[in-house]
Amino acid sequence: MFRVTQQIEFCYGHRLLNYAGKCRHLHGHNGRAVICLEAEELDDRGMLVDFTDVKKLLRTWIDEELDHRMIMHKDDPFLPILQARHEPVYVIPTNPTAENIARLIYTKAREMGFPVVEVTLWETANSSATYRGESGMPAPEWNPQTLRSTIPITAFPNE
Ligand SMILES: [Zn+2]
Repeated sequence: MFRVTQQIEFCYGHRLLNYAGKCRHLHGHNGRAVICLEAEELDDRGMLVDFTDVKKLLRTWIDEELDHRMIMHKDDPFLPILQARHEPVYVIPTNPTAENIARLIYTKAREMGFPVVEVTLWETANSSATYRGESGMPAPEWNPQTLRSTIPITAFPNE
């Protein structure tokens, strides 16, 4: 079994509902997502996954959807106010804790076809949360050749 990890740094704001501590107020973090991928087989280049593919898909998604945005619970009373002011938000159906943001990135990586087994979100230098997927969830069918050939290279003209 091979394992590779990729780290993606991004800035986000949030606040927690139903919470008495400091995090009930709007505030931000310099977060770092650590994405772990595993597979039994390597492709013909000897790679589990090309880090460039992770950058093109997952990093781009994080840059566009999460970076420098408020990640907010759908029922947060501030949400309509921020939306009315065209502030950038990313709405999730759960409290935007480090745990739930790790699960969000894990789910997105899986949708993109990466053989992700675990995502850790470092919210601060000392605090992290990890999502490993539901127990019993089978590993995604991983075919690096397929992923490579389906990536729309032309969508990333700056690469
Ligand atoms: Zn926080």
